[in-house]
Amino acid sequence: MLTQAKAVHPSKKQASMAFLCMILLLISVPNSAQGQSVSEPYQSVEPCGFVEELEFNGTLANASITEQVNLGPRTTGSNASADLRSMIHEQLTEWQVSNHTYTEDNLTFTNVVAKYSAVEQTLTTPRVVLVAHYDTRDVAERDPDVNRTGEPIPGANDGASGVAVLLELGRLIPSMGLSYEVELLFTDAEDQNHSSKLYGAEAWVERQTADDKNRTSAYIVVDMVGDAFLQLTHVYPGDAKLWSTISPLASAIGLVETKADCNGMFGRDVVNLSISTGVIDDHVPALNNGIRAIDLIDIRFGPDAEPFGGYWHTHEDTPDKVSAQSLEDVGRLVELGLRSDAWSTTITLANTTTVEEEPVLPATDVESETLETYVWMGAAALLSLLAALVFVLILSRAVDLKP
Ligand SMILES: [Zn+2]
Repeated sequence: MLTQAKAVHPSKKQASMAFLCMILLLISVPNSAQGQSVSEPYQSVEPCGFVEELEFNGTLANASITEQVNLGPRTTGSNASADLRSMIHEQLTEWQVSNHTYTEDNLTFTNVVAKYSAVEQTLTTPRVVLVAHYDTRDVAERDPDVNRTGEPIPGANDGASGVAVLLELGRLIPSMGLSYEVELLFTDAEDQNHSSKLYGAEAWVERQTADDKNRTSAYIVVDMVGDAFLQLTHVYPGDAKLWSTISPLASAIGLVETKADCNGMFGRDVVNLSISTGVIDDHVPALNNGIRAIDLIDIRFGPDAEPFGGYWHTHEDTPDKVSAQSLEDVGRLVELGLRSDAWSTTITLANTTTVEEEPVLPATDVESETLETYVWMGAAALLSLLAALVFVLILSRAVDLKP
């Protein structure tokens, strides 16, 4: 089950220190980094060169929501769940699709994994993994009708929306001519009342070899992305470097209110990464295993909903609460990342034991003059650091930030 991540409340002092350190950092960073910079190993791309190519069709994705909901609740082990697996297989004709069944804690669940690569795959071929849970919750513990809290939810947003986005991308990816592998992972048992364990995502990560993990350049979860009042925020935990790639993409297609899109127009307020929300979802097992992972999720389901409020885990999670526009916004965002190579990184082999390393010279071989230089450099660095700290301390006393 998807749960709330614990928030970290920094003290007033810590906040002011962080703020001042940030200012110090900003002063020292050249002007080229203006909030749209991307962190290594990712490379800055030119998303505007690809916007015209975007084909993601929100109407088709929206039709998939109705199709999935019409199967009935896709609770783990149900017939509807098996029907949805068949539907995924049927629709991903150009993909290599397989089911992986596991039993844990007396629960039998099945992940569906689809792979596509237009290039010959080696140990250094980057792999982008796109993830959505296809199961729907077996209870509606937040429903206002106490007589119906034990019934499974329709899961139009919480379940079907992520699957719909992946299936529509799955239709388009084979014709994109990408130079890396894409894997679509449909996880099961993410949302069962059985336990808060992320069964499908954990089982997937346990299957991965060191080389599989090493060449996974991005692992992106899409969950609850169909809300007609879509508001995507930064989500923690999550890989900061992978998050840094999202802002330029979202701005390019006009999803950021404060940023100009590729046509110079200010965007709509769909993506706001200045808000951070704590969510434990299918990205966490991958993240805990050293894979760069993030979660694209709108946990404020419905108009003016609070996090983990609104229609979430109620019988109101129905197709009419989901919009083609929201699905298209998220779909185009991911499509743009794929087409512009925002997430493929240079992969180096994980095991370098076969490579002969240069012998390290013993300290006595280092000329005394060079050694002295190092000592002076070290001392100078230490002094500058101390001076900066004293400066920050003096300033932090003078500034009183609100909590
Ligand atoms: Zn859920």
